[in-house]
Amino acid sequence: MSKQAAAFVTVGIDGGAASGKSSTSRRLAARYGLLHVDTGSHYRALSAGLLAAGVSPADTGEVADYVEGIYLETEIVDGSAQILVDGTRYGEEAIRSDAVNASVSRFAAMPTVRQALRQYQRDQVKLARETLFNGLIMEGRDIGSVILPDANLLFFLEADEATRAQRRAAEGQTDAIAERDKIDASRKTAPLTCPPRAERINTGSLSLEEVVAHIGSRIEELGLSPSEEESA
Ligand code: C5P
Repeated sequence: MSKQAAAFVTVGIDGGAASGKSSTSRRLAARYGLLHVDTGSHYRALSAGLLAAGVSPADTGEVADYVEGIYLETEIVDGSAQILVDGTRYGEEAIRSDAVNASVSRFAAMPTVRQALRQYQRDQVKLARETLFNGLIMEGRDIGSVILPDANLLFFLEADEATRAQRRAAEGQTDAIAERDKIDASRKTAPLTCPPRAERINTGSLSLEEVVAHIGSRIEELGLSPSEEESA
């Protein structure tokens, strides 16, 4: 007797700083049983490791040496994939520090740094399957353009600058949003851009629940149902 394979859905969410990617991705991951992967946290963890090792974004050669032999692993915590860099898991406080906010985009613009993470990020799909998630939702800047261009669904979130600054302030963070976006959008390797297949969503004029409901309806079209406690 043949058993129909259950749906496995991959979703890529790209967008600039504070565009609403994380809140949206977390909510959808919980609702549909998807592994949540925040690729910004990968760049942040590498940046924290580099800064702890005394390497600055100006030391291109030392950055390349640091990432060359790096060993990356994943620990799944509450449905979210957390990166371990050479056995160390950098906590939220470390990866969202002012020092990391100020340097992460400069590290992330380096091809050696992006190369060090590319395959690791692609392998998260396999991990999601092996650990029996219903799929994966990956957020970042180049998910649709480079990492998972064949994801089942791609979205690009944007919001006006005032809304984004308000969001960071509400989180009690100081963040160089405009400056990071400028570096991210103008770098040569994998710049922040809306991939051709992606659906653009302006999150400035919508509530979080409206964005989640919209993307959720696309996920449901592909055969997944919301979990009972989340949909209640
Ligand atoms: O998403 P978040 O704002 O935490 O990302 C921090 C930084 O990491 C971004 O400003 C960007 O420089 C870099 N990044 C990237 N590519 C990704 C995700 C993040 O270059 N896919």
